[in-house]
Amino acid sequence: MANLRSRGLPRACCLAALTAFLALLGTPGVHAASECAEELIYESREDIPPRFRWNPADVFEDREAFDDAVAAAEASIPEMGSWKGRLGNRTEDIVSALNASHELGRSVGEIYFFARIQVHVNASDPGAAAMFGVASALLARAEEAVSFVEPEIAALPRARLDALLEEPSMAPYRHVIDNVNRTKAHIRSSEVELVLAGAAELTLGPRDISDHLLNSDIVWPTVAGENGEDVQVTPATYGRISRSLDREFRRAGRAALLRTYEAFGNTLSASLATHVQGQAWISRVRGYNSSLERALDEVNVSARVVRSLVAAVHGNFGAVHNYTALRKRALGVETLYPYDAGVSLVPNGEKRYCFEDAWTMAMTFWREIFGEEYASVAETAFANRWIDVFPNTGKWGGAYAWVAYGNHPYMLLNWGGTFNDVVTLVHEMGHVVHMNLTHTNQPYHYSGTSVFVSEVASVTSENLFIDWAIERSEDPKERAVMLNAAVELAQGTFLNQILFHEFEEAIYDDAENGRALTKETMSAVYLDLITAYNGPDMTYNASDGIYFLRIPHFYLNYYVWVYATSYAAGEAIASRFRSGDQGVVDDFLSMLKLGSSVYPLEAVRVAGVDLLDPFVVGTVMSRFQNLTESLEMALDVASDAESVVTVSAESEGAASRAFPFLLLLALPLVTYL
Ligand SMILES: [Zn+2]
Repeated sequence: MANLRSRGLPRACCLAALTAFLALLGTPGVHAASECAEELIYESREDIPPRFRWNPADVFEDREAFDDAVAAAEASIPEMGSWKGRLGNRTEDIVSALNASHELGRSVGEIYFFARIQVHVNASDPGAAAMFGVASALLARAEEAVSFVEPEIAALPRARLDALLEEPSMAPYRHVIDNVNRTKAHIRSSEVELVLAGAAELTLGPRDISDHLLNSDIVWPTVAGENGEDVQVTPATYGRISRSLDREFRRAGRAALLRTYEAFGNTLSASLATHVQGQAWISRVRGYNSSLERALDEVNVSARVVRSLVAAVHGNFGAVHNYTALRKRALGVETLYPYDAGVSLVPNGEKRYCFEDAWTMAMTFWREIFGEEYASVAETAFANRWIDVFPNTGKWGGAYAWVAYGNHPYMLLNWGGTFNDVVTLVHEMGHVVHMNLTHTNQPYHYSGTSVFVSEVASVTSENLFIDWAIERSEDPKERAVMLNAAVELAQGTFLNQILFHEFEEAIYDDAENGRALTKETMSAVYLDLITAYNGPDMTYNASDGIYFLRIPHFYLNYYVWVYATSYAAGEAIASRFRSGDQGVVDDFLSMLKLGSSVYPLEAVRVAGVDLLDPFVVGTVMSRFQNLTESLEMALDVASDAESVVTVSAESEGAASRAFPFLLLLALPLVTYL
């Protein structure tokens, strides 16, 4: 309840996957940009046709309306304080305080959202930056103002809490109270909660420092591009560089990237170390044995689920190493280096997608697979400018969907015209539909779905979409591209996340046991992990360890395992769809409407998946192995075939794909603080 960040600001998502070092594929291109109705890159945001830009005025009409909302929220903060010390015997007081805190959370969430999405589409907009400053300060004050509510309720005797669960007037809050009851042991006195709430802004500091350094202050180097031109190597451009067919360009690009991370490595590492130490401090204050225990407890997920994920990967390293070996053979290189990990195994297989052609393809998929209720949300999203499609100077990299309660979701894309971008659109639409269905079916306090369930929604859709596209392709080369995409998706969304999780566990273990976290120690941990995961056919140098600084998710404290778990659950739900299970559409939509009104594992169970069943997790690695074997055969067939991937924009379902490298945005996902 005290947490406006997790409830009031339903989280942004995300990222289907992240790592460029294992990212795939493909050179964009047969379809020249000029053949699309739209351009791919616009110099100025104003040049982008309005229908491809989202419309913040749906939240607040203008700055004046924003200022009015800020004034109203500020005025309500003292009123919130009037409930302090009164939450006990009178149930109506508890209900009123909950209502007041949620209304404050809703209004401040909307203010923060409005400011932040405008910073995201134009980082150099001074007006947006000023609003964001106002909104951030207001958010911190509001968090302090409501911080007593949860501790006061938690301080009630167990018998009183049990009685509250039975009272009719508390019915709308039954799950909230149950959660308080469940986590009572970790909720501190109101004074301590006040300190924790006050520290919220401080604990977000390291991430902001890192973001500013990476996105604003560092002057990123240039290298010679495919045609000898200067290409700047930045966190945002590196994904594309890593997929280039020009090996020397890839090598130089990676070397320049790593050199820059190394040059700023002490500062960036100190920033990450401070973040980790801050989280470890919160875990300690709350009486957890570790930050991992806290992260799992927040979503009420058993450690058994995470342990079985790690064990499933370690037990199948052979399958992962076989894929590295296949990559080495397919590329025909004597030595395979990390800069070879992103390039397509099906060179020149990628076609260019115009956004509106891709949109038509995706709409067909949504309608066929999920039905009208789902498809109509998607249709509304584009028609009403919920989607910001194209990159422009000053816009954040990557893709996400985000929403403030009482408003429609907003989707940010950076359309590049690859199949990867089509899959990203499908992934993010999974979030948009989920947010929309949850918000239209749940009150504010159950609107903040956990990342865990959010990613299940998008991964289910994403996996089904790739299968759907493979089924419709008759071109062997194209099918090879798609299979490659499916393998890379499993690797990026499942395997890499487990690797990242292991990295997090190692550095948190150091922090929680008083050992130093430095550039050198963290690089060494990372290098050991990537070496173990990729096996003997990938050759690493000592300098590769610094790549950990490229992963923004380490600022999200034990967030990455969620991707892996969600992938496993999403794949299990997708299997139900593939088997023609009649009830699966209704079950899936029911899950999307639950929000946080039930615990995540229960929500997934509504869609027919029990993550405590080891079989569910185990099947992911079986699928990875099967996909890899199919890919190997498809590559053989494709190399024999003379066919060329069609470039017709009308060839619906004809798709090749680059694996997404998307930067996750700096959004407040801190829970319990
Ligand atoms: Zn996502």
